[in-house]
Amino acid sequence: MTHPENDEKYIGLTVNSGVAQPPSVNPYLKRHRRKPLPSVADLVDGIVKGDVTMLSRAVTLVESIQPDHYAIAQEVIEKCLPHSGNSRRIGITGVPGAGKSTSIDVFGLHVLRDGGKLAVLAIDPSSERTRGSILGDKTRMEKLSQHPGAFIRPSPSAGSLGGVARKTRETIVLCEAAGYNNIFVETVGVGQSETAVHSMVDFFLLIQLAGTGDELQGIKRGIMEMADGIVINKADGDNIGPAQLAQAQFKSALHLFPPTESGWSPEVLTYSGYYEIGIAEVWNMIDRYFAFVKNNGYFDRKRMQQARYWMYETIDNRLRSHFYNDPQIAEMLADRENLVLANRQSSFTAARDILQFYFSKK
Ligand code: GDP
Repeated sequence: MTHPENDEKYIGLTVNSGVAQPPSVNPYLKRHRRKPLPSVADLVDGIVKGDVTMLSRAVTLVESIQPDHYAIAQEVIEKCLPHSGNSRRIGITGVPGAGKSTSIDVFGLHVLRDGGKLAVLAIDPSSERTRGSILGDKTRMEKLSQHPGAFIRPSPSAGSLGGVARKTRETIVLCEAAGYNNIFVETVGVGQSETAVHSMVDFFLLIQLAGTGDELQGIKRGIMEMADGIVINKADGDNIGPAQLAQAQFKSALHLFPPTESGWSPEVLTYSGYYEIGIAEVWNMIDRYFAFVKNNGYFDRKRMQQARYWMYETIDNRLRSHFYNDPQIAEMLADRENLVLANRQSSFTAARDILQFYFSKK
């Protein structure tokens, strides 16, 4: 093709014809393009039939920060709600190294011996874990992850504790609708997440270790107070004696606590997750707990309290994010913060001005 600038009047200037562009897109990439989002009806149908792919996709929507995903997820949850609730929700906590993964692996297989299904979820707001870690979690629970009845999902990635916990709470609904009649929610027993887990489970299991110095190691009184069962792991080999000693110490410490609202007296047991000693006993305790609280009405009462709690939690969360995500508010916050730090405005009048501006909007 001749180029207009090759006209004779532009002597001395030749424009060469260009080289054909290679296809700019790797043709193989197309194959990886994301599938279109399934409809709410397809997701709900799939979940209720126990389709793991649909369940995973719905959980991904729950975890998404995109508002349109959030909206679809909420509809799916709403429609799954009538199919949910029929499960045992068990929270499992312990400091890193206490043996949570090892124990969940064997507890999980124990639970699945009688059939049924188990979902293992986690709350870990400190984690920067991303998609890749799904593999990490699967290798952490090696045997369980190969079981067809198990669904293992890592913690939603880092965010505010409230946000991460809400996502896990919503995922429970989806899993139950998909027929998972056992739900484990794991948390790293070092901080605030325990309160969040406690507010979404029926039974709260605290995994402890013996012989790491002060027996009531770093575990806050509040966490012990929440526990329905304390289990001392690694009661094997030379560690059996120290584990039994720790058991006695925990038992006497529990005597000092006020009676529980459920009327259940928390028990303290020893076991070994690694050598699979005492697993049936731990599970026997949990079975007895469920029989006890279903019989005295506490089971239903607690679930209702939790539903109410999550309503207010969700409102709190939405209000906060609506406020903090407003660009004008963000700008004003930065300004006023500087004034407050420079001692030119009081914290209270700064807060008052910002809130007044916020409430006057719209
Ligand atoms: P997590 O951080 O709480 O999930 O703990 P892990 O399950 O990863 O266990 C931490 C370490 O303790 C690993 O090296 C395990 O092999 C070991 N471990 C776990 N359970 C037991 C047990 O019952 N006995 C012994 N001796 N070691 C255990």
